[in-house]
Amino acid sequence: MRYLDCPYRSACGGCGDQNLPYEKTLERKQEEVRRLLAPYCRTERIVGMEEPYAYRNKVHAAVGWDRRGEMITGIYARNTHRIIPVTRCRIHDTRADETVQIIRSLAQEFGIEPFDEDRGTGLLRHILIRAARSSGQMMAVLVIGRSAFPNRSAFVEALCKRCPWVRTVAVNLNGQHTSMILGPSTRTVFGPGFIEDELMGLRFALGPDSFYQVNPLQTEKLYGKAIDLCRLNGKETLLDAYCGIGTIGLCAASKCAKVIGVELNANAVRDAQHNAKRNGIGNAVFIASDAGEWMNKAGRAQTVDVAVMDPPRTGSSRAFLASLCRKGPERVVYVSCNPVTLARDLAFLTREGYHAETAVPFDMFPWTEHVETVCLLRWRKKDLFPVP
Ligand code: SAH
Repeated sequence: MRYLDCPYRSACGGCGDQNLPYEKTLERKQEEVRRLLAPYCRTERIVGMEEPYAYRNKVHAAVGWDRRGEMITGIYARNTHRIIPVTRCRIHDTRADETVQIIRSLAQEFGIEPFDEDRGTGLLRHILIRAARSSGQMMAVLVIGRSAFPNRSAFVEALCKRCPWVRTVAVNLNGQHTSMILGPSTRTVFGPGFIEDELMGLRFALGPDSFYQVNPLQTEKLYGKAIDLCRLNGKETLLDAYCGIGTIGLCAASKCAKVIGVELNANAVRDAQHNAKRNGIGNAVFIASDAGEWMNKAGRAQTVDVAVMDPPRTGSSRAFLASLCRKGPERVVYVSCNPVTLARDLAFLTREGYHAETAVPFDMFPWTEHVETVCLLRWRKKDLFPVP
Protein backbone atom coordinates (compact mmCIF):
# COMPACT_ATOMS: atom_id res chain seq x y z
CA MET A 1 0.00 0.00 0.00
CA ARG A 2 1.29 3.46 -0.86
CA TYR A 3 0.42 6.44 1.30
CA LEU A 4 1.02 10.14 0.78
CA ASP A 5 2.81 10.32 4.12
CA CYS A 6 2.69 14.08 4.24
CA PRO A 7 3.89 15.95 7.35
CA TYR A 8 1.56 18.90 6.62
CA ARG A 9 -1.43 16.60 6.31
CA SER A 10 -3.90 18.04 8.74
CA ALA A 11 -3.35 21.72 7.96
CA CYS A 12 -2.59 22.06 4.26
CA GLY A 13 -5.43 22.72 1.83
CA GLY A 14 -3.63 21.32 -1.21
CA CYS A 15 -4.68 17.66 -1.35
CA GLY A 16 -8.00 16.10 -0.41
CA ASP A 17 -7.31 12.37 -0.30
CA GLN A 18 -4.38 12.37 2.10
CA ASN A 19 -5.30 9.64 4.54
CA LEU A 20 -6.24 6.90 2.09
CA PRO A 21 -3.82 4.51 0.44
CA TYR A 22 -3.29 5.36 -3.25
CA GLU A 23 -5.28 2.35 -4.50
CA LYS A 24 -8.30 3.49 -2.48
CA THR A 25 -8.08 7.02 -3.92
CA LEU A 26 -8.20 5.47 -7.39
CA GLU A 27 -11.24 3.40 -6.45
CA ARG A 28 -12.99 6.49 -5.13
CA LYS A 29 -12.33 8.41 -8.35
CA GLN A 30 -13.35 5.46 -10.51
CA GLU A 31 -16.62 5.15 -8.61
CA GLU A 32 -17.33 8.88 -8.82
CA VAL A 33 -16.95 8.89 -12.61
CA ARG A 34 -18.91 5.63 -12.97
CA ARG A 35 -21.80 6.95 -10.90
CA LEU A 36 -22.01 10.29 -12.73
CA LEU A 37 -21.71 8.82 -16.23
CA ALA A 38 -23.81 5.67 -15.66
CA PRO A 39 -26.87 7.10 -17.47
CA TYR A 40 -24.79 7.68 -20.62
CA CYS A 41 -21.98 5.16 -21.04
CA ARG A 42 -19.74 2.56 -19.47
CA THR A 43 -16.67 3.63 -17.55
CA GLU A 44 -13.42 1.75 -18.05
CA ARG A 45 -10.74 1.20 -15.45
CA ILE A 46 -8.99 4.32 -14.20
CA VAL A 47 -5.41 4.86 -15.40
CA GLY A 48 -3.31 5.55 -12.31
CA MET A 49 0.37 6.38 -11.78
CA GLU A 50 3.06 3.90 -10.86
CA GLU A 51 4.89 6.49 -8.78
CA PRO A 52 2.23 8.99 -7.71
CA TYR A 53 4.70 11.49 -6.23
CA ALA A 54 6.62 14.60 -7.31
CA TYR A 55 4.52 14.83 -10.48
CA ARG A 56 3.43 18.46 -10.40
CA ASN A 57 5.43 20.62 -12.82
CA LYS A 58 3.89 23.90 -11.68
CA VAL A 59 4.57 25.00 -8.15
CA HIS A 60 3.08 27.98 -6.46
CA ALA A 61 4.40 29.29 -3.15
CA ALA A 62 2.80 32.13 -1.23
CA VAL A 63 5.23 34.42 0.59
CA GLY A 64 4.61 35.76 4.09
CA TRP A 65 5.84 36.10 7.67
CA ASP A 66 5.67 33.57 10.46
CA ARG A 67 4.93 34.53 14.08
CA ARG A 68 8.61 35.08 14.83
CA GLY A 69 8.95 37.54 11.97
CA GLU A 70 10.78 35.11 9.66
CA MET A 71 10.01 35.07 5.96
CA ILE A 72 8.21 31.88 4.95
CA THR A 73 7.03 30.34 1.67
CA GLY A 74 4.35 27.71 1.39
CA ILE A 75 0.76 26.72 0.78
CA TYR A 76 -2.40 28.31 2.16
CA ALA A 77 -4.07 26.38 4.98
CA ARG A 78 -7.43 24.95 4.03
CA ASN A 79 -9.96 27.75 3.37
CA THR A 80 -7.73 30.48 4.82
CA HIS A 81 -5.10 33.00 3.87
CA ARG A 82 -2.68 31.64 6.49
CA ILE A 83 0.51 30.24 4.99
CA ILE A 84 1.83 26.83 6.05
CA PRO A 85 5.60 26.88 5.57
CA VAL A 86 6.03 23.95 3.17
CA THR A 87 9.61 23.29 2.18
CA ARG A 88 9.05 19.94 0.50
CA CYS A 89 5.66 18.91 -0.87
CA ARG A 90 5.20 15.25 -1.81
CA ILE A 91 3.43 16.02 -5.08
CA HIS A 92 5.61 18.91 -6.29
CA ASP A 93 8.55 18.51 -8.64
CA THR A 94 11.42 18.19 -6.15
CA ARG A 95 13.76 20.63 -7.84
CA ALA A 96 10.96 23.20 -8.23
CA ASP A 97 10.51 23.11 -4.44
CA GLU A 98 14.27 23.48 -3.98
CA THR A 99 14.20 26.50 -6.28
CA VAL A 100 11.52 28.16 -4.16
CA GLN A 101 13.68 27.63 -1.05
CA ILE A 102 16.73 29.12 -2.76
CA ILE A 103 14.70 32.16 -3.88
CA ARG A 104 13.40 32.60 -0.33
CA SER A 105 16.83 32.57 1.22
CA LEU A 106 18.17 34.90 -1.47
CA ALA A 107 15.28 37.30 -0.80
CA GLN A 108 16.28 37.33 2.87
CA GLU A 109 19.91 38.02 1.93
CA PHE A 110 18.77 40.92 -0.27
CA GLY A 111 16.48 42.33 2.41
CA ILE A 112 13.37 41.75 0.27
CA GLU A 113 10.22 41.53 2.41
CA PRO A 114 6.92 39.75 1.83
CA PHE A 115 4.20 42.00 0.41
CA ASP A 116 1.56 42.98 2.94
CA GLU A 117 -1.76 43.32 1.13
CA ASP A 118 -3.43 45.35 3.89
CA ARG A 119 -0.67 47.86 4.47
CA GLY A 120 0.79 47.90 0.97
CA THR A 121 4.30 47.36 2.34
CA GLY A 122 7.03 44.88 1.34
CA LEU A 123 7.46 43.43 -2.14
CA LEU A 124 7.36 39.68 -2.82
CA ARG A 125 3.92 38.09 -2.90
CA HIS A 126 4.19 34.72 -4.64
CA ILE A 127 6.83 32.59 -6.31
CA LEU A 128 5.69 30.52 -9.27
CA ILE A 129 7.93 27.85 -10.78
CA ARG A 130 7.18 26.00 -14.01
CA ALA A 131 9.34 23.00 -14.74
CA ALA A 132 9.83 21.19 -18.06
CA ARG A 133 10.31 17.57 -17.03
CA SER A 134 11.97 16.44 -20.27
CA SER A 135 14.55 19.24 -20.56
CA GLY A 136 14.99 20.10 -16.87
CA GLN A 137 14.46 23.78 -17.72
CA MET A 138 12.60 25.97 -15.24
CA MET A 139 10.89 29.32 -15.27
CA ALA A 140 10.65 31.47 -12.16
CA VAL A 141 7.91 34.08 -11.93
CA LEU A 142 8.31 36.56 -9.08
CA VAL A 143 4.92 38.05 -8.26
CA ILE A 144 5.38 41.43 -6.61
CA GLY A 145 2.88 43.76 -4.98
CA ARG A 146 4.56 47.07 -5.89
CA SER A 147 6.17 48.15 -9.13
CA ALA A 148 9.48 49.33 -7.61
CA PHE A 149 11.85 46.35 -7.26
CA PRO A 150 15.09 47.69 -5.71
CA ASN A 151 18.24 45.86 -6.73
CA ARG A 152 16.32 43.68 -9.17
CA SER A 153 19.16 42.98 -11.62
CA ALA A 154 21.54 41.86 -8.88
CA PHE A 155 18.83 39.68 -7.33
CA VAL A 156 17.96 37.99 -10.64
CA GLU A 157 21.64 37.50 -11.43
CA ALA A 158 22.20 35.82 -8.06
CA LEU A 159 19.11 33.65 -8.58
CA CYS A 160 20.34 32.40 -11.96
CA LYS A 161 23.81 31.74 -10.56
CA ARG A 162 22.43 29.67 -7.67
CA CYS A 163 19.90 27.89 -9.92
CA PRO A 164 21.53 27.35 -13.32
CA TRP A 165 18.52 25.25 -14.39
CA VAL A 166 16.36 28.40 -14.34
CA ARG A 167 16.32 29.41 -17.98
CA THR A 168 14.08 32.40 -17.69
CA VAL A 169 12.82 34.77 -15.00
CA ALA A 170 9.72 36.95 -15.22
CA VAL A 171 8.28 39.56 -12.89
CA ASN A 172 4.52 39.86 -12.54
CA LEU A 173 2.92 42.87 -10.87
CA ASN A 174 -0.11 42.07 -8.73
CA GLY A 175 -0.96 44.88 -6.31
CA GLN A 176 -4.66 44.07 -6.07
CA HIS A 177 -6.65 42.71 -3.14
CA THR A 178 -7.29 39.38 -4.84
CA SER A 179 -6.98 35.64 -4.50
CA MET A 180 -5.63 35.44 -8.07
CA ILE A 181 -1.91 34.66 -8.11
CA LEU A 182 -0.94 36.51 -11.26
CA GLY A 183 -1.76 40.14 -12.04
CA PRO A 184 -2.34 41.26 -15.61
CA SER A 185 1.19 42.32 -16.56
CA THR A 186 4.24 40.03 -16.78
CA ARG A 187 7.72 41.17 -17.87
CA THR A 188 10.57 38.88 -18.78
CA VAL A 189 13.69 40.05 -16.93
CA PHE A 190 16.03 37.21 -17.85
CA GLY A 191 16.13 34.68 -20.71
CA PRO A 192 13.66 34.15 -23.57
CA GLY A 193 10.41 34.33 -21.57
CA PHE A 194 9.53 30.66 -22.09
CA ILE A 195 10.78 27.16 -21.35
CA GLU A 196 10.63 24.14 -23.62
CA ASP A 197 9.15 20.77 -22.80
CA GLU A 198 8.80 17.63 -24.89
CA LEU A 199 5.54 15.73 -25.13
CA MET A 200 4.91 12.73 -27.39
CA GLY A 201 8.05 13.53 -29.37
CA LEU A 202 7.11 17.18 -30.03
CA ARG A 203 8.64 20.29 -28.49
CA PHE A 204 6.41 22.84 -26.79
CA ALA A 205 7.29 26.30 -25.55
CA LEU A 206 5.39 27.53 -22.53
CA GLY A 207 5.08 31.07 -21.29
CA PRO A 208 4.24 32.17 -17.73
CA ASP A 209 0.46 32.16 -18.02
CA SER A 210 -0.54 29.67 -20.75
CA PHE A 211 -2.41 26.58 -19.67
CA TYR A 212 -0.24 23.47 -19.65
CA GLN A 213 -1.09 20.09 -18.13
CA VAL A 214 0.59 19.78 -14.72
CA ASN A 215 1.40 16.06 -14.80
CA PRO A 216 3.57 15.29 -17.84
CA LEU A 217 3.72 11.48 -17.45
CA GLN A 218 -0.06 11.15 -17.23
CA THR A 219 -0.54 13.75 -19.98
CA GLU A 220 1.19 11.48 -22.49
CA LYS A 221 -1.15 8.63 -21.52
CA LEU A 222 -4.21 10.91 -21.64
CA TYR A 223 -3.35 12.42 -25.03
CA GLY A 224 -2.42 8.98 -26.40
CA LYS A 225 -5.87 7.68 -25.45
CA ALA A 226 -7.71 10.77 -26.73
CA ILE A 227 -5.94 10.57 -30.11
CA ASP A 228 -6.49 6.80 -30.30
CA LEU A 229 -10.22 7.30 -29.77
CA CYS A 230 -10.28 9.81 -32.65
CA ARG A 231 -9.39 6.84 -34.93
CA LEU A 232 -7.87 9.13 -37.54
CA ASN A 233 -7.08 7.82 -41.02
CA GLY A 234 -5.11 10.76 -42.39
CA LYS A 235 -7.96 12.35 -44.32
CA GLU A 236 -9.97 14.12 -41.63
CA THR A 237 -10.27 17.71 -40.51
CA LEU A 238 -9.83 17.66 -36.74
CA LEU A 239 -11.21 20.41 -34.54
CA ASP A 240 -9.21 20.94 -31.31
CA ALA A 241 -11.62 23.07 -29.28
CA TYR A 242 -10.31 24.73 -26.08
CA CYS A 243 -6.85 23.90 -27.41
CA GLY A 244 -4.59 25.88 -25.03
CA ILE A 245 -1.11 25.97 -26.57
CA GLY A 246 -2.21 23.44 -29.20
CA THR A 247 -0.81 20.30 -27.59
CA ILE A 248 -3.55 17.77 -28.46
CA GLY A 249 -4.08 18.99 -32.03
CA LEU A 250 -0.35 19.15 -32.78
CA CYS A 251 0.21 15.65 -31.38
CA ALA A 252 -2.56 14.42 -33.74
CA ALA A 253 -1.54 16.51 -36.78
CA SER A 254 0.50 13.77 -38.49
CA LYS A 255 -2.55 11.49 -38.40
CA CYS A 256 -5.07 13.78 -40.11
CA ALA A 257 -5.34 16.19 -43.05
CA LYS A 258 -5.91 19.38 -41.09
CA VAL A 259 -6.11 20.63 -37.51
CA ILE A 260 -8.12 23.67 -36.46
CA GLY A 261 -7.43 24.82 -32.91
CA VAL A 262 -9.78 27.27 -31.19
CA GLU A 263 -8.84 28.93 -27.92
CA LEU A 264 -9.98 32.02 -26.00
CA ASN A 265 -6.58 33.09 -24.60
CA ALA A 266 -4.76 35.01 -27.37
CA ASN A 267 -1.34 34.41 -25.76
CA ALA A 268 -1.93 30.66 -25.77
CA VAL A 269 -2.93 30.87 -29.46
CA ARG A 270 0.33 32.67 -30.22
CA ASP A 271 2.19 29.91 -28.35
CA ALA A 272 0.25 27.28 -30.34
CA GLN A 273 1.26 28.92 -33.64
CA HIS A 274 4.92 29.01 -32.59
CA ASN A 275 4.68 25.41 -31.46
CA ALA A 276 3.40 24.36 -34.90
CA LYS A 277 6.36 26.14 -36.55
CA ARG A 278 8.88 24.82 -34.04
CA ASN A 279 7.81 21.26 -34.94
CA GLY A 280 7.56 21.87 -38.69
CA ILE A 281 3.80 21.20 -38.68
CA GLY A 282 2.13 22.92 -41.64
CA ASN A 283 -1.41 21.54 -41.48
CA ALA A 284 -2.58 23.25 -38.26
CA VAL A 285 -4.25 26.64 -37.84
CA PHE A 286 -5.09 28.27 -34.51
CA ILE A 287 -7.82 30.80 -33.91
CA ALA A 288 -8.30 33.11 -30.93
CA SER A 289 -12.02 32.99 -30.17
CA ASP A 290 -14.68 31.74 -27.82
CA ALA A 291 -15.23 28.16 -29.01
CA GLY A 292 -19.03 28.50 -29.25
CA GLU A 293 -18.83 31.82 -31.06
CA TRP A 294 -16.40 30.44 -33.63
CA MET A 295 -18.62 27.42 -34.27
CA ASN A 296 -21.61 29.69 -34.79
CA LYS A 297 -19.95 32.30 -36.98
CA ALA A 298 -16.60 31.89 -38.73
CA GLY A 299 -16.58 28.11 -38.45
CA ARG A 300 -20.15 27.59 -39.63
CA ALA A 301 -19.12 26.67 -43.15
CA GLN A 302 -16.08 24.68 -42.03
CA THR A 303 -16.24 20.89 -42.31
CA VAL A 304 -15.25 19.08 -39.12
CA ASP A 305 -14.90 15.28 -39.28
CA VAL A 306 -13.65 14.68 -35.76
CA ALA A 307 -13.68 17.01 -32.75
CA VAL A 308 -11.62 16.95 -29.57
CA MET A 309 -12.91 19.25 -26.86
CA ASP A 310 -11.14 20.00 -23.60
CA PRO A 311 -13.06 22.75 -21.80
CA PRO A 312 -12.24 24.20 -18.35
CA ARG A 313 -13.87 22.88 -15.14
CA THR A 314 -17.10 24.72 -15.85
CA GLY A 315 -17.62 22.53 -18.92
CA SER A 316 -18.68 23.62 -22.36
CA SER A 317 -21.18 26.32 -23.34
CA ARG A 318 -24.63 25.55 -24.65
CA ALA A 319 -23.73 27.56 -27.79
CA PHE A 320 -20.75 25.29 -28.50
CA LEU A 321 -22.63 22.07 -27.80
CA ALA A 322 -25.62 23.08 -29.91
CA SER A 323 -23.49 24.02 -32.90
CA LEU A 324 -21.46 20.82 -32.49
CA CYS A 325 -24.71 18.85 -32.81
CA ARG A 326 -25.71 20.89 -35.86
CA LYS A 327 -22.38 20.04 -37.50
CA GLY A 328 -22.50 16.44 -36.31
CA PRO A 329 -18.86 15.32 -36.67
CA GLU A 330 -18.79 11.52 -36.66
CA ARG A 331 -16.59 11.32 -33.53
CA VAL A 332 -16.24 13.67 -30.61
CA VAL A 333 -13.62 13.04 -27.95
CA TYR A 334 -14.46 14.98 -24.81
CA VAL A 335 -11.53 15.51 -22.41
CA SER A 336 -12.86 16.69 -19.07
CA CYS A 337 -11.31 17.73 -15.77
CA ASN A 338 -14.69 17.74 -14.01
CA PRO A 339 -17.02 14.73 -14.27
CA VAL A 340 -19.98 16.78 -12.96
CA THR A 341 -19.96 19.18 -15.93
CA LEU A 342 -19.03 16.28 -18.25
CA ALA A 343 -22.21 14.46 -17.17
CA ARG A 344 -24.25 17.64 -17.67
CA ASP A 345 -22.83 18.12 -21.19
CA LEU A 346 -23.32 14.43 -22.04
CA ALA A 347 -26.99 14.78 -21.13
CA PHE A 348 -27.28 17.45 -23.82
CA LEU A 349 -25.13 15.76 -26.47
CA THR A 350 -26.85 12.38 -26.10
CA ARG A 351 -30.27 14.05 -26.34
CA GLU A 352 -29.26 15.92 -29.49
CA GLY A 353 -27.89 13.07 -31.56
CA TYR A 354 -24.73 11.62 -30.03
CA HIS A 355 -24.18 8.22 -28.50
CA ALA A 356 -21.63 8.13 -25.67
CA GLU A 357 -19.59 4.98 -26.18
CA THR A 358 -17.00 4.80 -23.45
CA ALA A 359 -15.27 6.84 -20.76
CA VAL A 360 -11.76 6.37 -19.38
CA PRO A 361 -10.80 8.14 -16.13
CA PHE A 362 -7.18 9.25 -15.68
CA ASP A 363 -5.53 10.10 -12.40
CA MET A 364 -3.87 13.33 -13.48
CA PHE A 365 -3.78 14.77 -9.96
CA PRO A 366 -2.95 11.98 -7.47
CA TRP A 367 -3.97 12.58 -3.83
CA THR A 368 -6.25 15.46 -4.75
CA GLU A 369 -9.99 15.04 -5.22
CA HIS A 370 -9.74 15.81 -8.94
CA VAL A 371 -10.14 13.32 -11.76
CA GLU A 372 -9.77 13.65 -15.53
CA THR A 373 -11.93 11.70 -18.00
CA VAL A 374 -11.75 11.03 -21.73
CA CYS A 375 -15.08 10.18 -23.31
CA LEU A 376 -15.82 9.02 -26.86
CA LEU A 377 -19.09 10.05 -28.51
CA ARG A 378 -20.34 8.98 -31.92
CA TRP A 379 -22.94 10.62 -34.12
CA ARG A 380 -25.98 8.37 -34.46
CA LYS A 381 -28.71 10.62 -35.72
CA LYS A 382 -28.25 9.18 -39.21
CA ASP A 383 -29.18 5.77 -37.80
CA LEU A 384 -32.28 7.14 -36.13
CA PHE A 385 -33.46 8.95 -39.22
CA PRO A 386 -31.97 6.97 -42.11
CA VAL A 387 -31.85 8.86 -45.38
CA PRO A 388 -34.13 6.91 -47.78
N1 SAH B 1 -6.35 21.21 -24.50
C1 SAH B 1 -5.38 22.02 -23.79
C2 SAH B 1 -5.99 23.06 -22.85
C3 SAH B 1 -7.12 22.63 -21.97
S1 SAH B 1 -7.54 23.74 -20.65
C4 SAH B 1 -4.37 21.15 -23.07
O1 SAH B 1 -4.54 19.93 -22.93
O2 SAH B 1 -3.35 21.67 -22.64
C5 SAH B 1 -8.90 24.59 -21.24
C6 SAH B 1 -8.56 25.72 -22.18
O3 SAH B 1 -9.80 26.32 -22.59
C7 SAH B 1 -7.73 26.84 -21.57
O4 SAH B 1 -6.58 27.06 -22.39
C8 SAH B 1 -8.66 28.07 -21.61
O5 SAH B 1 -7.98 29.28 -21.90
C9 SAH B 1 -9.60 27.71 -22.75
N2 SAH B 1 -10.94 28.33 -22.72
C10 SAH B 1 -11.69 28.67 -21.65
N3 SAH B 1 -12.89 29.13 -22.04
C11 SAH B 1 -12.91 29.08 -23.39
C12 SAH B 1 -13.89 29.41 -24.37
N4 SAH B 1 -15.08 29.89 -24.02
N5 SAH B 1 -13.59 29.22 -25.67
C13 SAH B 1 -12.37 28.72 -26.03
N6 SAH B 1 -11.39 28.40 -25.14
C14 SAH B 1 -11.66 28.58 -23.83
